[in-house]
Amino acid sequence: MRKTIIAGNWKMNHLGSDAKATITGLVSRIPQNVKSEVVIAPVFPYLPMAVEFTKGTPVHVAAQNMHWEESGAYTGEVSPAMLVDIGVTHVIIGHSERRTYFNETDETVNKKADAALKHGLIPIICCGETLEQRERGIMQSWIEGQIEKALKGLTAAAMTKVVIAYEPIWAIGTGKTATSAQAQEVCAIIRKKILALYGSVAADSVSVLYGGSVKGKNVAELTGSPDIDGGLVGGASLKVDDFMAIIENAV
Ligand code: PGA
Repeated sequence: MRKTIIAGNWKMNHLGSDAKATITGLVSRIPQNVKSEVVIAPVFPYLPMAVEFTKGTPVHVAAQNMHWEESGAYTGEVSPAMLVDIGVTHVIIGHSERRTYFNETDETVNKKADAALKHGLIPIICCGETLEQRERGIMQSWIEGQIEKALKGLTAAAMTKVVIAYEPIWAIGTGKTATSAQAQEVCAIIRKKILALYGSVAADSVSVLYGGSVKGKNVAELTGSPDIDGGLVGGASLKVDDFMAIIENAV
């Protein structure tokens, strides 16, 4: 049985004092036996603080990005070993904003996913189509292509640790949520692709999240769908009340 995952992607938000207030507010309200796996992804400078304040709580800490190399002359980059060293457990890979603004490609996403898994980090690998691709009727082939390229060369055993986040680009930060039927359709396409590539053990164990304007009021219907195993939440993860509403209503 796959556990529901609620992951908060803070993006480039919150200075230290707000980050601290949000994390401490969250851990003070989240029950120890919360039924979902809860993850927060602050910006790099506040990751050590997030690890410290979530120690012994059910909240896990993710980075929003990383490089795939171990160390070396890569100015401005952070390696998987460094994230593990400070106690980070998850990493978001290939978010559409990174693909759009920072030239990430399916190939770099694949290298990062592989490096994360080799270091014991859980990769939350993002995929998603634009509105234009959806309207042209190429959504399915686009998503399948992204999944195939992102996961290329991973072992079936490593696949059981992978988390995929389906985030239609037209639903991110727009207030336009995909209907649960639309989200379910694509999450099922992703699972079928994993079944074809890696077999049933991998397909049954991979968590597939939906992301794009997830809120307390739509999360139950989304996570109640058979192939949607949780949410990757942007805007609504920044405020404790909003994020708690999502955690409480997720099924
Ligand atoms: P949103 O962002 O919830 O603000 O739409 C989701 C994401 O980009 O991960």
